[in-house]
Amino acid sequence: MPQDAPQLDQDLPPQVTDHGGGVWGIKVPIPDNPLGHTLVHVLDTGRGPVLVDTGWDDPASWNTLVAGLGALGLAVADVHGVVITHHHPDHHGLSGQVREASGAWIAMHAADTEVVVRTRSAEPGVWFDYMSGKLAAAGAPEAHLAPLRAARANGRLRTLPGLRAAVPDREILPGELLPLAGRRLRAIWTPGHTPGHVCLHLEEEHPAHLPGHGRLFSGDHLLPGISPHIGLYEDPSSEQATDPLGDYLDSLERIGRLEPAEVLPAHQHAFTDAPARVRELLAHHEDRLTGLWELLAEPLTPWALAERMEWNRPWEQIPYGSRNIAVSEAEAHLRRLVKQGRAESVPGSDPVTYRAV
Ligand SMILES: [Zn+2]
Ligand SMILES: [Zn+2]
Repeated sequence: MPQDAPQLDQDLPPQVTDHGGGVWGIKVPIPDNPLGHTLVHVLDTGRGPVLVDTGWDDPASWNTLVAGLGALGLAVADVHGVVITHHHPDHHGLSGQVREASGAWIAMHAADTEVVVRTRSAEPGVWFDYMSGKLAAAGAPEAHLAPLRAARANGRLRTLPGLRAAVPDREILPGELLPLAGRRLRAIWTPGHTPGHVCLHLEEEHPAHLPGHGRLFSGDHLLPGISPHIGLYEDPSSEQATDPLGDYLDSLERIGRLEPAEVLPAHQHAFTDAPARVRELLAHHEDRLTGLWELLAEPLTPWALAERMEWNRPWEQIPYGSRNIAVSEAEAHLRRLVKQGRAESVPGSDPVTYRAV
């Protein structure tokens, strides 16, 4: 039983944290990324350890994961299952390698599995056409589109880790307990950062009896010091006007109502008082929406809006790839303002501009 798990914390290396009650965190590095690391969590179950996320697909990350498990007296071959919060490569990157080494199952929400399957089978040219079409429609200048077109024409097509991401074996069903021997881990669907993001609520009482309801593995949904990227869901085959920011805000409220005693996020560090952090993030997005609504006193394309939004540095200094992410974020905010009836597209504009209502 988990409660009887041996206490090994006296010998743990610095990248491993014992959270008590058969839960550990391993800091798995993300190469060349300001986030630094993914916190991979290990959950002891009656049938062997289960991982929540696995980390970036890179030899150094793999070695850190293996060494971290080793410090807990575990081999990768012992891993019984892998639960993935969302499909991003810093969370799902090593899942395939873990499955190969252990025979573990991999579980993911169906909406993110769909993204994995689509990305694996996508002809790279389709992606380039989709991206340049999307950016042109958002009002990107020719100078920004030219490199994309040139790359496609030269056959320099992308090689992203997502192209060989592992296809999950199991589906995580929202609201259901995962079938883990001796543990109560419930899936909470929290779309927004990705369409199939889930948080996982460990409903057992907090091992140090902190006030609140159990512990929450929050993935990228709820982080102590940063707010996750919310862009439009990228689906070349869908015409549907999804509202990821609306989804995200709803998902935040859902998590706040759970009142977990402690949050174990996938980046940064564990923290308490989830409802306060939720309120902070809701207020941040409300301020941002209002700020954008004010900018829309003059009609703007999503690109022009992104240029005027506040980022962590001036627009001129934002690198190429990050500008694409910034525009996607501007589009998600515009979509929300339109859904709220606070903005509308200007009829006949091409590329389409938006104005405040
Ligand atoms: Zn992510
Ligand atoms: Zn992440």
